[in-house]
Amino acid sequence: MKSEEEQAQVGMTKDQWGVVRNELKKTLGTSHYTSWIEPLVFQDLKDGVCTFGVPTTFIGNYVSQNFADQIIYQLNRSGESVKRLAFDVANVATAPTASAVPPPALEERFTFDRFVVGKPNELAYAAAKRVAEGGPVSFNPLFLYGGVGLGKTHLMHAIAHELRQRQPELNVLYISAEKFMYEFVRAIRDNTMMDFKHLFRSVDVLMVDDVQFIAGKSSTQEEFFHTFNSLIDDQKQIIISGDRAPGEIKDLEDRIKSRLQCGLVVDLHPTDYELRLGILQSKLTSHQNTDPDVVVADGVLEFLAHRISTNVRVLEGALTRLFAFSSLVGREITLELAQDCLADILRISERKVTVEEIQRKVSEYYSIRLSDMIGPKRKRDYARPRQVAMWFCKQMTSRSLPEIGRRFGGRDHTTVIHGVRRIEDLRIKDSQLSDDLENLRRQLEE
Ligand code: ADP
Ligand code: MG
Repeated sequence: MKSEEEQAQVGMTKDQWGVVRNELKKTLGTSHYTSWIEPLVFQDLKDGVCTFGVPTTFIGNYVSQNFADQIIYQLNRSGESVKRLAFDVANVATAPTASAVPPPALEERFTFDRFVVGKPNELAYAAAKRVAEGGPVSFNPLFLYGGVGLGKTHLMHAIAHELRQRQPELNVLYISAEKFMYEFVRAIRDNTMMDFKHLFRSVDVLMVDDVQFIAGKSSTQEEFFHTFNSLIDDQKQIIISGDRAPGEIKDLEDRIKSRLQCGLVVDLHPTDYELRLGILQSKLTSHQNTDPDVVVADGVLEFLAHRISTNVRVLEGALTRLFAFSSLVGREITLELAQDCLADILRISERKVTVEEIQRKVSEYYSIRLSDMIGPKRKRDYARPRQVAMWFCKQMTSRSLPEIGRRFGGRDHTTVIHGVRRIEDLRIKDSQLSDDLENLRRQLEE
């Protein structure tokens, strides 16, 4: 409080600003005052323009649309000559009421042109692009899902940036589900639910990132559901991300699941080698814009794309470290240097899941007992999951076929070969099975 008041002295006395704030409190009421006026930090007053620091773009927009006249009126009454208000987002350290997407200058990286498109993410990219065009709301909500580090947050920010450019008048609010919950709890505690509801129901585009976070949190879900419905009814665009498909998020209410499913649901598949290589190349090119001296030997990017298959964030981290290292020691980035400098990351990426983990996850997935997966039963309900598990063991572990057979209740290696071939065969024809494999792979790679 004190520092705000101290800052308020520039070009206007502390008392004056205090008086203005008090007047505003009287005319607007305590709850509006707390939500909208208190977060404003007076910066300066020049040529009739009074500038305030605000914690988020959203608050700035909101205040300017709803309270500007009254603020100007009170400022003028206090003896200042003010024609217009301006808001400066970067300039406040206080906790925001809700976090809007930072203006483009802050998250420059997360734009569409920095997003490398490949087979695994082309659908998600196309859907995000369409929403960012801001035409009539065509699919609502847009639900993006996929594993960690595959670009969900990047795409959501990219949508926000593009919308800001095309339609600056829109109120675009980006918030993580975690922050949504935090703000909700705070609103209950501080008795500001009306403002909370108002804030979330007055946006034009709402983005909620990592929605799986509110699973199991029942009152937050309740509030989310109402917010969601109210915006959908008003034909406002909603974009949600999650780490898995709506139907697979545990402890999420069925009505929310079905609401989330009624728009367009698209997933970001795990990256493939080509996409990883493309991302590395694009990051190298953009790095070379700032540091033209960096030299990467042939084969290094290919090596990284091959060896680091976990997620894009790790891939980026590896590259950043290499750049830093090579600029420190002034050396070309060779394969040898990469192996040395990234030994820890490369080791983790080598981590293979165990046969036991695969058996457990697959039996859980198909809701059968582990003992039935390993045991002698031949019924298809058990045989198919067993074959799936064998297939994963072949794919993801370095165990030999006889060894795999032994771990499946002492079966012969020819049984393993048969099982693996069967799955290879079916995954092309049977889309349900291929979805299952995709889901399981994601779970196993976590
Ligand atoms: P998620 O939200 O899915 O966990 P992020 O969007 O935070 O993942 O992405 C992790 C990092 O990887 C970010 O720095 C992002 O810019 C980068 N990234 C992910 N996918 C791509 C892509 N296709 N092209 C370029 N960068 C990407
Ligand atoms: Mg994210």
